Amino acid sequence: MNSLAETPVTRLKGAGPKVAERLQNLGIQSVEDLLFHLPFRYEDRTCVVPIGSLRPEQSAVIEGEVLLADIIFGKRRSLLCKVSDGTGTLSLRFYHFSAAQKNNLERGARIRVYGEARVGASGLEFYHPEYQVARSSLPPLEKALTPVYPTTDGVSQLLLRKLMIEALQILSRQPPRDLLPESVMQQQGLPSLQQALHKLHAPLPDDPVDMLLAGEHPSVRRLVIEEMIAHQLGMLGRRAGQRAHQAPLFETDGLRTSLLGSLPFDLTRAQQRVIGEIDADLQIPHPMLRLVQGDVGSGKTLVAACAALSAISAGYQVALMAPTEILAEQHYRNFCHWLKPLGINVAWLVGSLGVKARREANQQISDGSAQVIVGTHALFQPAVCFHRLGLTIIDEQHRFGVHQRLALREKGHIGDQVPHQLVLTATPIPRTLAMSVYGDLDTSVIDELPPGRQAIDTVVISESRRPQVIERIRNACISGAQAYWVCTLIEESEALQASAAELTCTLLQEALPELNIELVHGRLKTQEKAQRMARFANGEAQLLVATTVIEVGVDVANASLMVIENAERLGLSQLHQLRGRVGRGSEKSYCVLMYSTPLSQTAQRRLAVMRETNDGFRIAEEDLRLRGPGEWLGTRQTGELAFRVVDLMRDEALMEPAREMAEIMQRDYPQHVEPLIRRWLKGGENYADI
Ligand code: ADP
Ligand code: MG
Repeated sequence: MNSLAETPVTRLKGAGPKVAERLQNLGIQSVEDLLFHLPFRYEDRTCVVPIGSLRPEQSAVIEGEVLLADIIFGKRRSLLCKVSDGTGTLSLRFYHFSAAQKNNLERGARIRVYGEARVGASGLEFYHPEYQVARSSLPPLEKALTPVYPTTDGVSQLLLRKLMIEALQILSRQPPRDLLPESVMQQQGLPSLQQALHKLHAPLPDDPVDMLLAGEHPSVRRLVIEEMIAHQLGMLGRRAGQRAHQAPLFETDGLRTSLLGSLPFDLTRAQQRVIGEIDADLQIPHPMLRLVQGDVGSGKTLVAACAALSAISAGYQVALMAPTEILAEQHYRNFCHWLKPLGINVAWLVGSLGVKARREANQQISDGSAQVIVGTHALFQPAVCFHRLGLTIIDEQHRFGVHQRLALREKGHIGDQVPHQLVLTATPIPRTLAMSVYGDLDTSVIDELPPGRQAIDTVVISESRRPQVIERIRNACISGAQAYWVCTLIEESEALQASAAELTCTLLQEALPELNIELVHGRLKTQEKAQRMARFANGEAQLLVATTVIEVGVDVANASLMVIENAERLGLSQLHQLRGRVGRGSEKSYCVLMYSTPLSQTAQRRLAVMRETNDGFRIAEEDLRLRGPGEWLGTRQTGELAFRVVDLMRDEALMEPAREMAEIMQRDYPQHVEPLIRRWLKGGENYADI
């Protein structure tokens, strides 16, 4: 007997190869997948409502006798059918209909209709309702509530329901194994998997539907907890697998003291604490896997540099990878500035390097003369061959997935020894998400900004007040400050973005002839871009007009005003990142969010959040709420976060208990771990051995 997971949907009567192909869009291949596809709503078709008591907007089953069915030639041709049940009359209206349909709605026929009542031209009407006609008597009413499923093109609700009924029959004959320990089920008051699935797909009219939908019912929790545990087990497995490797030992030494001594400031307490946590990891002969979270401007780069020095002192190389060239460039400059005076050789490797420069970089990487290598995805390329990689640092901002992290590690294999890993993330991640995305990493938080930073004041202003905004820039720059003007154009080509920014720059030059203005965008050659940025950084230019390329990696402490044009187009984390470019010096800083109307509700909410708070954690949580985890993380991560029944926002509170239960299962029920991972994680078999 095959298990549900091994029974393909094509085994069901209603599902031929075409349907099976479409079901794949919903991630459904097996009967088990189908059963894990849960309704998002239920309809009550278990009792008949008298027409006379129907209210507008009410969805209901009515039964009655067809009085007439006529084609009406109004503004749009329609089929109108009147039904009476003695308590009142109801109209059914169809704009798409066939002759057969009209003929079938014969006067005197019995009819059962399910629809939603709307106020129409002739009193209450149902538009395009589902109905059944019978000459004598109608079949019995539904006993269970009718589920409504998320669906895809070419798969109707009706078809899904039919398939599900078949699947539930198979479920009754071949109940799946309950992989959760009895103790967990009892402690949480959870039903068996079989019971839970029956309840979710066919609840009875007196079941608490609200609880089912809100994820509060034990039947939903049964599935949610199981999926969370499976996910956490996957993480734990991966973590254990990685930790089983050997890694080099690093001690801190004089280089760090020299670096810190050369800085015009002291480390914050939070930086010291996080560096201490990293040091402890590096003194264990197994690979560190540590995530450093810290708000924009909290000084993550310096923390990374301190870790780098430990590896370098021990004679190992350090690779620092960033998601964009601009960000990589910024790190490169920082590392050169800090480490070159200590006699350390820092190399640069990005996709846009010319052949010669690339060859030279590769040479230095493979012969070990490059001690730190800063770059982008280019660091993965097959031609790149590290001499002795001991530490990888990834500044990722959700843009790299687990697999890329691991790919870089693979580059550093020396015998069975692998490099340590440090991941930096600039956008704070709400705890739930951190547990599900970075569950395989230890976490450190830099929860303090360097002293003297002042909160940025943010104002939200309509595009129609552009002249005042320009005046404000003039005043600020005349009194010695510097400013950014950010042009936004999303989902357009880089070429379009560049030309829009060029136009804005020209207009600003006309309006502000007394200022030196620089323009940067993604289409500039690296060197040209660097020169322009440098002129802004050293104060020659007072205003920098830029596309969102400056989102990351620009660090000019004297800049205290930022204008973001069409701010309504950007997401919260992007706005927060951008705004973080000001407020880096001791001057009070301002951010002007300029919007054009009409503003969507979400855009209004986003701008309001930006005005209300500078707190990255709050902003991240709000962002998650507005966009949902998938979008929030960007496409890269969503594949890894493809939960089937878990809704991270709704089920947040279960995350911690699930983590604990996962640990218990690993310890006490090791034989259940693999089947559980296999059940819930597609391709989960690979989890354990990466
Ligand atoms: P982020 O966490 O956003 O990557 P950075 O590492 O870019 O932050 O640091 C922001 C700025 O603060 C840099 O100019 C950096 O040199 C400076 N900085 C870092 N640590 C401190 C500190 N302890 N005191 C003052 N300034 C600091
Ligand atoms: Mg940074």
